[in-house]
Amino acid sequence: MAAALRIGVLDGDDIGLEVVPAAVEVARAAAYRHKVDIDWRKLPIGRRALDTHGHTLPPSTMEELRRLDGWILGPIGHRAYPKQPNAINPHPILRKDFDLFANVRPTRSYPDIGCLHQGVDLVIVRENNEGFQPDRNMLAGSGEFRPNDDITLSVRVITRKASYRVAKAALELARARRKHMTFVHKDTVFKLGCGMFVEECRRAAAEYPDVKVDDVIVDTFAMRLVRDPQTFDVVVTTNMFGDILSDEAAGIVGGLGMAPGLCIGEGNVAMAQAVHGSAPDIAGKGIANPYSMIESTRMLLEFLGVSRGRPEAVAAAADISKAVTAALADPKARTGDIRGTGNTATFTRAVLDNLG
Ligand code: ATP
Repeated sequence: MAAALRIGVLDGDDIGLEVVPAAVEVARAAAYRHKVDIDWRKLPIGRRALDTHGHTLPPSTMEELRRLDGWILGPIGHRAYPKQPNAINPHPILRKDFDLFANVRPTRSYPDIGCLHQGVDLVIVRENNEGFQPDRNMLAGSGEFRPNDDITLSVRVITRKASYRVAKAALELARARRKHMTFVHKDTVFKLGCGMFVEECRRAAAEYPDVKVDDVIVDTFAMRLVRDPQTFDVVVTTNMFGDILSDEAAGIVGGLGMAPGLCIGEGNVAMAQAVHGSAPDIAGKGIANPYSMIESTRMLLEFLGVSRGRPEAVAAAADISKAVTAALADPKARTGDIRGTGNTATFTRAVLDNLG
């Protein structure tokens, strides 16, 4: 018998404490039905870990993560952490340490939940470890610095390696979907930085003659995403463009409650992580939309099923998709942000009830 899939559960902060347990409950139920053997490991992180283990990312958590196939990371409310050395934002460390280089963010429309368009089914693949983000584009120090009080410089890092491998990840995804990949850039202005990204996208694309490949300048893409999002399948772009555009894409289909994500790293490790933050404004009220986290977890199951040759995990993921679609169709089950009268618990219950 194949070894159990080892999946970590890291609740995070604020609404993470509500939506991560919901996602795990759904995944556990689907895994049980499809006989997927999963070894779930709950690991401390965030504000609670600071209280219990003296660190927001305890060394024991990092050690344990190295032994896992993947994990579910709830949103992190680091802006509310006390100012002390052990209260760090764990994101940059996790992304860098596990080389989680591709952030896969799907956008899908559903009827009656307030989507601006129907027929939307696209995925933005965001490069995750370099670009403009100063907390992750340097080995040491920060990518932002201030030589004097009047000048600030923000360094954007683009490498051939990162550009090529994120383009390959997007092309692989496109091959499994509608075989269309669009790379988004601004090489008209960033002739060297975006220019290098474009060169590497083209180099990778040459290996996928079966995938239709085109490119769009980022400002035009932002406009087209609002006007005709149905024309896109898989989109790949650099870190900050991807950050902004994936929130824009979420806005088209109902907001951050409808924005799942999966970070994929070298060695086929993966981290389920919704696009949204910890939403302290609604935490503790039981009204957070768990869709993003449930769907991120479903993506993890599917990814592990495909990469580990476990068809039963792929079947469990497909079952969750079907159940989520059915639950979203019930206004009494779904949450207020997507035109429902339900809450976190009613939506989760509805998904559980609709599993095959
Ligand atoms: P961060 O910078 O940490 O990503 P943010 O500033 O983007 O966080 P969020 O915490 O994502 O902010 O919240 C933005 C808005 O979206 C808030 O009003 C919040 O209540 C809402 N929101 C976020 N996630 C959800 C969710 N799962 N369900 C319902 N509303 C949500």
